[in-house]
Amino acid sequence: MNFGDIFKNFRKQQPTRDEAPSHWVKCPQCNSLMYYKEVENLAQVCPKCKFHMRIGAQKRIDLLADKGTFTEYDADLIPVDPLGFVDKKSYKKRVAESEKKTGKRSSVVSGECTIGGVPIQLVVFDFTFMGGSLGSVEGEKIVRAVHRAIEKRQGVIIVSASGGARMQESTFSLLQMSKTSAALKRLAKEGLPYISVLTDPTMGGVSASFAMLGDVIIAEPGALIGFAGQRVIKQTIGAELPEGFQRSEFLMKHGFLDLIVQRSEMKKTLADLLLYFSAGINKAQEEHFVPRRRKEDFQTPEPEPVVTPEPEPENDQGADAT
Ligand SMILES: [Zn+2]
Repeated sequence: MNFGDIFKNFRKQQPTRDEAPSHWVKCPQCNSLMYYKEVENLAQVCPKCKFHMRIGAQKRIDLLADKGTFTEYDADLIPVDPLGFVDKKSYKKRVAESEKKTGKRSSVVSGECTIGGVPIQLVVFDFTFMGGSLGSVEGEKIVRAVHRAIEKRQGVIIVSASGGARMQESTFSLLQMSKTSAALKRLAKEGLPYISVLTDPTMGGVSASFAMLGDVIIAEPGALIGFAGQRVIKQTIGAELPEGFQRSEFLMKHGFLDLIVQRSEMKKTLADLLLYFSAGINKAQEEHFVPRRRKEDFQTPEPEPVVTPEPEPENDQGADAT
């Protein structure tokens, strides 16, 4: 092989302009151009203005779950098309396209893992699959995760990133709102915690059901959270809406959220909350804990021994003084 052939082969192995990955990322908020590795190392958060870009379900799981502990469940559940729904494309085609794009069969990934050593049922939405919409499969996955949590005496975390109920399933998708809410009510009755994490965006039927039912509701900074879009509300009520309306910070100020937490701090926050809740879940579960602080610090003190009072000497009179 002469030098010319080697050079030709080398040229062939190079990706074309279309195939080559883009090495630069533009921040949608401050328009800064950044090297993609820098942004990736910060879990898709702009180093300059802290804008939280959207991330997929797998990346989210990698960020939250303790390394190597996540086991996915119900990955084989696939949406059916009970209405034979067709808009610009058929529902079947949309599902197939999303499946090809994401490698997933629904907009929800659910499973079990530990966070900070505490076992938990984790449900994560992926916005890239049909806008993270809530259909029958997604609802069923959430309910099954809740049932597993009840069975195993664990808590549930749902990380939402969704445009709302999936219109292609019409009433079937709306029913998931009540179905998931009912399951979470059962979880609450069992005294088990549910933490809802809202990320950009959490809208429609998702925000109108399980996303707002958390014992603790946490949002990422700047996330769009609401029911109807701003344009629809403006048309309906015919009034100007305040600046930053439907963003995390506005909702926090008006009492809808408990915390706004940076992505880099999310795992630590969840681990602390889980540790706090876990102390009350089930004593038998304590042996599974690997607390980040000394275990002795969290042990409840031995109860005071109950002293039974000496019986009163019998009243000789056999009647009271009155
Ligand atoms: Zn930025």
